[in-house]
Amino acid sequence: MSQKKIKNLLIGTNNEGKLKEIRSLLPKHINIYSTSNFKLHSPKEDGKTFKENSLIKSRYFSLKSNLICLADDSGLEIDLLNKRPGIFSARWGGRKGDFSKAIKRVYRELNKVDKNWKNKKVKARFICALSISNLNKKIACVQGKVEGHISSMPKGQNGFGYDPIFIPLGKSKTFGEMSPSKKYTIDHRFNAFKKIRKFL
Ligand code: IMP
Repeated sequence: MSQKKIKNLLIGTNNEGKLKEIRSLLPKHINIYSTSNFKLHSPKEDGKTFKENSLIKSRYFSLKSNLICLADDSGLEIDLLNKRPGIFSARWGGRKGDFSKAIKRVYRELNKVDKNWKNKKVKARFICALSISNLNKKIACVQGKVEGHISSMPKGQNGFGYDPIFIPLGKSKTFGEMSPSKKYTIDHRFNAFKKIRKFL
């Protein structure tokens, strides 16, 4: 059966930044619901990969709401930090999800590994796994990424999370300095979305 029949879809995230971006990517014929419509808290993310965690979320929110659910799990991998924070990207912001705290930790960890890191291009990438579940059934699970490097200082007020410290490959501005419409056409979520679009 074609999955183009999806009319109602829950976006399984409590992160406003992600919700806004995913909304902008979805076809207009779909009625979109968010976890706040159902007052749902996020499940424990105990998977070992972005894909596993996105499936945990889409399955959990689908079972709670009885709707087909699209969920993402995403984060920042920094090569000099052995790919950390990776799946722990949200947790580096602490219980309150304080992104300035997460960014300070990135700089602290980079300084520990190499005092001279600002004079080098520290390679990094954002990863986004997207999955769609219908109750316990997996409909799709894909992954997208965007390569780049870490800015020597946070720049820009746009976006969320690590946006002020990430400069995508071939650009000179951080995601935090770009308009949302620009970021949404080159980032990891967009690249993952291109792969999952056919299931919608
Ligand atoms: P989770 O997928 O809810 O576990 O959270 C992923 C975390 O990665 C977010 O809280 C952000 O800190 C970070 N992150 C994911 N995508 C982006 C992005 O597009 N910009 C900036 N930070 C991001």
